[in-house]
Amino acid sequence: MEYIYRESISSMGKKLLIIFMTLPLMASLAACGGKKEALTTEAAAQTEAVAATPTAEEKKMLTFSETDKCRGDLILVNADHAYNFDANASFSPVRIVDAQQYDYPVSNEDFRLSPDIMHALDQMVKDCDEAMGTTYTSVSSAWRSKEYQQSVWDEMAELYGEDYSEQYVAVPGYSEHHTGLALDLGIIYDDGSEGTFSESENAVWMAEHSYLYGFIRRYAENKTDITGISNEAWHFRYVGVPHAAYMYQNDLCLEEYLQKLRADTSPEQPLEIEAGGTKYSVYYVSGDSCPEPEESFMISGDNCGGIIVTVRH
Ligand SMILES: [Zn+2]
Repeated sequence: MEYIYRESISSMGKKLLIIFMTLPLMASLAACGGKKEALTTEAAAQTEAVAATPTAEEKKMLTFSETDKCRGDLILVNADHAYNFDANASFSPVRIVDAQQYDYPVSNEDFRLSPDIMHALDQMVKDCDEAMGTTYTSVSSAWRSKEYQQSVWDEMAELYGEDYSEQYVAVPGYSEHHTGLALDLGIIYDDGSEGTFSESENAVWMAEHSYLYGFIRRYAENKTDITGISNEAWHFRYVGVPHAAYMYQNDLCLEEYLQKLRADTSPEQPLEIEAGGTKYSVYYVSGDSCPEPEESFMISGDNCGGIIVTVRH
């Protein structure tokens, strides 16, 4: 449910609920004298219509469970907010090599991600490669189970010492990689050798363009005091197009963005965002319910006890 835009259309006492699967997006880089990006959104990959009982005057309410508050594209996972494995028990990551529609290298064929972000990732990597004129962009880390995160922590501590692990590796249970919405990008050359992503032109391109695809460069140098993680040019997190665009344009990290939504927004006072030619209203809900929006919408928990509603106009 957390990755789904739901559209409700009421007319003549009949209600039609159209369920949109994850909004896929197509972003194309068009060069015309200089650099110019054009983002076009593809309406929906799959729709499913459900006819509901007529309820003419009834004001429909959305209700949220505690589980809802710990799931979705906008959940915050950091040193203070553990990933809720129980709330996400139904989460089923897919192998990137099975799901990818564009053939970029993945450093381990067992690497997995949320199926809902694969289209956006494919398009982002493809456009980066086209802009660079190379095919080196790779995925060097993806979804991690709690056990796997422990092995990463232990390995780094053994190789570089515990100080290094504490600085660069999240404690198991507190890694964004548990969400399946985060990944590390790398460079793998045609001969199979690896380059350093943070020193590549790809890193610059990704930092400037990833928001077009709904990803944020999660750990920036000027936000380390807030994120608690050192500058990582390679780590990207999917949050969805309107949110990524707002964070990029206003230089906010996820912690700051969620704090802004909590402090400044409500169903009556949403944050208006325009991204990729589409207008969105975004607001925070602190209780367990709110009126159902008239237009298509998506909900996500913030993993801090609240819900964020994104309405697509
Ligand atoms: Zn990472």
